[in-house]
Amino acid sequence: MSKTIAINAGSSSLKWQLYAMPEETVLAKGLIERIGLPDSISTVKFDGRAEKQVLDIANHTQAVKILLDDLIRFEIITAYDEITGVGHRVVAGGEFFKESTVVDDEVLQKIEDLKLLAPLHNGANADGIRAFKELLPDITSVAVFDTSFHTTMPEKAYRYPLPTKYYTENQVRKYGAHGTSHQYVAQEAAKHLGRPVEELKIITAHIGNGGSITAVNGGQSVDTSMGFTPLAGLMMGTRTGDIDAAIIPYLMEHTDDLKTPADISRVLNRESGLLGISGQSSDMRDIESAMQAGNKDATLAFDMFVDRIQKYIGQYFAVLNGADAIVFTAGIGENSDLVRAAVIEGLSWFGCDILPEKNVRGAEGVISSSDAKVKVLVIPTDEELVIARDVERLKK
Ligand code: AMP
Repeated sequence: MSKTIAINAGSSSLKWQLYAMPEETVLAKGLIERIGLPDSISTVKFDGRAEKQVLDIANHTQAVKILLDDLIRFEIITAYDEITGVGHRVVAGGEFFKESTVVDDEVLQKIEDLKLLAPLHNGANADGIRAFKELLPDITSVAVFDTSFHTTMPEKAYRYPLPTKYYTENQVRKYGAHGTSHQYVAQEAAKHLGRPVEELKIITAHIGNGGSITAVNGGQSVDTSMGFTPLAGLMMGTRTGDIDAAIIPYLMEHTDDLKTPADISRVLNRESGLLGISGQSSDMRDIESAMQAGNKDATLAFDMFVDRIQKYIGQYFAVLNGADAIVFTAGIGENSDLVRAAVIEGLSWFGCDILPEKNVRGAEGVISSSDAKVKVLVIPTDEELVIARDVERLKK
């Protein structure tokens, strides 16, 4: 048995999961929050226990040291060298990384260079990689990119109809996101349907606080709703998703509070979506309870959220020229029977349905009737497991 750790590093956080491989058993998992701020919090969950400590953690290297020492303190490992591989989620792989890659100095430099495309994310991902390299220099380190799965999109899908020089000189094109999740749930859906993924057309809906929909043909991404950045596509918790680009210069000219790119970016990324429309919360659970209590703004937020999902699914029926299945995943996709029911109800013309007795919380697998032309499934996503598997596969 070897131990592999999957890491998702954010600018002030580090989420981790330790696996026994190849058994794929989760030995422990945890989250370190508020890195670089006073009162950082480290939580470790294992054997049904949750151990939390509050302390000052200055940077990612310190965070990794605390995590490794906790693993020893709680006797989850007896020495650092029991961990033989680490996999890092990296948000932007650009056009360069078409698949998961062992990280050497050159790869790390390239991830740094791609900060241009995801300034907050790739910087943090690189910090996480460096921290592990410093403390565990001899283990296999693998980068798993959110964008890799989408590198199979045809050019007609990933290009924007802007002058070509903005593509060739500024790399402006659609890259997509959540690739690991879309790929995993498409493959799992094929298992549930008892058919090879290569024969199937699947529309995968990763609907969480961030959300994206992907058209998967024969196991390959052919189009996806996120774009140059994760702002595009669906309405999300705090993000607009697609809007008319002309709104931006218009607001900059005609408002007092939106004058700089940073102002615009803040509003579009952090103050819009469910939060902006409901005026209450970015969290779907809050929106659903407010809606059930008769709140009009929350009801509009819910209806708009569902509308954008339906429209993207409709688009991808066209892109794929029909589909065998629609798969829901992530926080809302997995847990909100209300969102799933509302989305599918409006798509009955396409041949999908949903069985109320199967559309329950905790549902997994097919939730449509046996004669539905387009099957509807719920598949819990597991990005960490994909990362751990990629480390195992790429280990020398
Ligand atoms: P994620 O970003 O995948 O963690 O998903 C977060 C979103 O999932 C938030 O909007 C949550 O409100 C939503 N969510 C989690 N559990 C439920 C639930 N039982 N019903 C509705 N939404 C949920």
